[in-house]
Amino acid sequence: MKLLNHLINLLFPRVCAACGNILLEREDTVCTTCRFLLPKTGYELNPNNPLAQMFYGQMPFNAVMAEFFFSKTGKVQHLIHGLKYKGCRENGIFLGEEIGKSLLKAPDYQGISYIIPIPLHPKKEKIRGYNQSHVIAEGISEVMNIPIAEKCLVRSVFTDTQTKKSREERWQNVKDIFELKKPQKLQGKHVLLVDDVLTTGATLMSAGKALMQVEGIKISVATVACASN
Ligand SMILES: [Zn+2]
Repeated sequence: MKLLNHLINLLFPRVCAACGNILLEREDTVCTTCRFLLPKTGYELNPNNPLAQMFYGQMPFNAVMAEFFFSKTGKVQHLIHGLKYKGCRENGIFLGEEIGKSLLKAPDYQGISYIIPIPLHPKKEKIRGYNQSHVIAEGISEVMNIPIAEKCLVRSVFTDTQTKKSREERWQNVKDIFELKKPQKLQGKHVLLVDDVLTTGATLMSAGKALMQVEGIKISVATVACASN
């Protein structure tokens, strides 16, 4: 069996999802070098980080963080691209696990009862085969031992691609796209809202708006990546 594994590795070498180098037998998804070099933000330990400031006076999130900066080398982008467009589910698990490890050490992220991934519209999820935010949430859930609240937040309107829209147009586009289900389950709870990338914050604002209807809810936000400034 071991010999067979060796042979398979020779013929189809497993490569690092971030840099493309061949993985050693004991390495999984991302090589040891990349694990060390991926640019972490440390934002989970800084309550006044630039992402938290983005929501000041607009949405009373308890804490906001991104695990990584988009790197100059493109490794973080590569991991996210693989997750979103190439079916590399394992990238999402890896990214989620990295977030989870950071949050375990962060005082603002303690006492969380549920993880809530930002939902994809069902049509998009069918095309992609999964919701990338849900996969990231699975990685976080595994490390932090916190359950995912399934179908508490659902997407009701189909939106077109955001890339060519201005900030204001984007906000108009996503303002009321989320609907709250089973609000009693979340009453008085600290929840962790999870998304892949934080850019304008419009999607998180919209999800926050829906969740804030729950009495006594406390919402913290975790994302994989943001731009460095
Ligand atoms: Zn690598």
